[in-house]
Amino acid sequence: MQTNNTTQKRVLITGAAGFLGSHLSDRFIKEGYHVIGMDNLVTGSMKNIEHLFPKKEFEFYFHDVTKFVHVPGKLDYILHFASPASPIDYLKIPIQTLKVGSLGTHNLLGLAKEKKARFLIASTSEIYGDPTVHPQNEEYWGNVNPIGPRGVYDEAKRFQEAITMAYHTYHGLETRIVRIFNTYGPRMRLNDGRALPAFFSQAIEGKDITVFGDGSQTRSFCYVDDLVEGIYRLLLSDYVNPVNIGNPDEITIKEFAEEIIKLTGTDQKIIYTPLPTDDPKQRQPDITKAKELLDWEPRVSRKDGLKITYDYFKQILAKVAG
Ligand code: UDP
Repeated sequence: MQTNNTTQKRVLITGAAGFLGSHLSDRFIKEGYHVIGMDNLVTGSMKNIEHLFPKKEFEFYFHDVTKFVHVPGKLDYILHFASPASPIDYLKIPIQTLKVGSLGTHNLLGLAKEKKARFLIASTSEIYGDPTVHPQNEEYWGNVNPIGPRGVYDEAKRFQEAITMAYHTYHGLETRIVRIFNTYGPRMRLNDGRALPAFFSQAIEGKDITVFGDGSQTRSFCYVDDLVEGIYRLLLSDYVNPVNIGNPDEITIKEFAEEIIKLTGTDQKIIYTPLPTDDPKQRQPDITKAKELLDWEPRVSRKDGLKITYDYFKQILAKVAG
């Protein structure tokens, strides 16, 4: 625990009101850091961080990082987690998605250079596109459609990795790149169109469970606490190249829907609707690097993680209904 104010580390977390940003804010406060959360609330929600407002270790800036970013005082770390992160967001706000990954990252790299702060970016398994290599390791370059509906996210994130690496090699900035695979847990946005919130809300509200395509596409879901632990370890490590963080426990989307039907006890049925364009067929992280470099691997089983997440969605939907 760092409690002394002169030595207390200061970390800027962009996207702090989002799903991952809010959990990271919690973690850094728990570790004794001073956290400066930044968000423009395009996809984030104040509800995710309202519990942090009474804490003196937390301050919040309402700001769009695609505009010049100013933060007074020292900064030890910058974690750039601001970005839409769901396929329906890319369709609704494609330009903002591109800008936050490109212009936003450039502004924050400038800030990191000025403050001599270590910079960590939230990259993604989406940089692998619809992968032709399985499982995906960090050496795989990907199979991305730049002009498809996901291109705005995938290419922004690829640019983000490129410019971050350039700041490292050209300016000697300390940088870290985490490639995040599908992650779930409390504070996921209810209507973000992703499989897990969709299935839970449909099951709880008594609607048909919408599986896209024939449901044979796979994903590997990581519980949020495991992800945060991996990111925390990566930040404090001295490894500069990208590291996959995710849970290798792969499942088809049809089986995933069936697990949620069983857990919720709903009598709703699966209905099959068209598969969105460029929806990756198979996704599973190779986490050898994270194991070797960070001594990290996921600890929370899908069974346990889903139970906690189900309780969260029940509560949220009861509030919405009540
Ligand atoms: N999906 C689905 N029904 C839904 C929402 C998503 O079958 O109501 C599918 C989607 O097509 C994809 C998988 O579930 O194959 C995971 O989707 P999500 O949006 O959660 O993550 P991503 O595709 O970005 O990995």
